[in-house]
Amino acid sequence: MIKRWENAFGIDLGTSSTIIYQKGKGIVLHEPTVVAIDEENGSVRAIGTEAQAMIGRTPGRLSIVYPLKDGVIANYDSTTLMLQHFFRKIQGRTPWFRGARIFISVPSGVTNVQKRAVEETVIHKGARKAVAIEEPLAAALGAGLPVEEPIGSMVVDIGGGTTQVAIISLGGVVVSRSTRRAGMSIDRDIIDYVKRRYNLAIGERTAEELKKAIGTAVKPEENSQMTIRGRDQVSGLPKTIAVSAAEIYELLDDFLQSVTESIRLTLEQCPPELAGDVMERGILLCGGGALLRGLDKRLQDETGVPVIVADQPQECTALGAGKMLEFKELRA
Ligand code: ADP
Ligand code: MG
Repeated sequence: MIKRWENAFGIDLGTSSTIIYQKGKGIVLHEPTVVAIDEENGSVRAIGTEAQAMIGRTPGRLSIVYPLKDGVIANYDSTTLMLQHFFRKIQGRTPWFRGARIFISVPSGVTNVQKRAVEETVIHKGARKAVAIEEPLAAALGAGLPVEEPIGSMVVDIGGGTTQVAIISLGGVVVSRSTRRAGMSIDRDIIDYVKRRYNLAIGERTAEELKKAIGTAVKPEENSQMTIRGRDQVSGLPKTIAVSAAEIYELLDDFLQSVTESIRLTLEQCPPELAGDVMERGILLCGGGALLRGLDKRLQDETGVPVIVADQPQECTALGAGKMLEFKELRA
């Protein structure tokens, strides 16, 4: 059994990763938002890290389901199954959500109906309290920005399914933009490039590994390479090729321009005082995409605004949800 006061969680339910913060403990879970389903009888075969290992390697009857799409819940059943599994992992035998207080992050700009649906799903499973909070606000709080003050802060969160750009002041999101170009779209760009250039078919996981290993947003000084394996489109047989950092750097150009454009448009839309604050205090970069080599420098060069990468870019949204939980309970 867990102690009553520890029965409080901040959840970052992301398109790529689910991260759970527990009161008094910190981050207790970080796993991919993925479920593997047996098509024949609809049963769940694997969830999270275990399911991710199966991507691209499933036999005919197994299929991979991503419970979230573009930041929002696309499949409530698999989302619930997945969360139940994760909570069993962290809580042992305690019935999941029983009596828990939950703060859960949702993308900025979702409707109140969508927010309510997320809260009700959690309450329905036995939680005592559920609050949906906007991701950029949680991320800013988790990274230690002064979100409650009358000062403009900009957050650029590059996740798996979406890139969110938001300006925050006085505890709320003033303006925000979201695009579907993010980590997973970079992976798809890599797959397309390798197919075009080398006639080689590669999977999502290989593309992601390539991006993480040699991807760079600034011109690479030494041109490192990575060897990858795929299927030759002509012979149909396995083939190995080497891809260089310079190639990835070039193909990232398009994506980087879309991020710069989002930042520009968001600054354009917000009140001048807040834009001034951002110009002076800089942009907070977070989400797994913030780990891309040289991204801070590149965005800084292109926008002329200082860019700071969050201390724990991938975890800061969950940390912020946890902080908000502790803060609200202190005041309650
Ligand atoms: P979400 O909030 O959508 O779940 P995350 O913030 O967890 O997403 O970020 C996941 C994305 O970050 C994935 O697309 C992943 O490939 C990407 N990512 C993780 N590490 C790196 C890295 N070192 N370089 C570039 N991209 C990365
Ligand atoms: Mg996220």
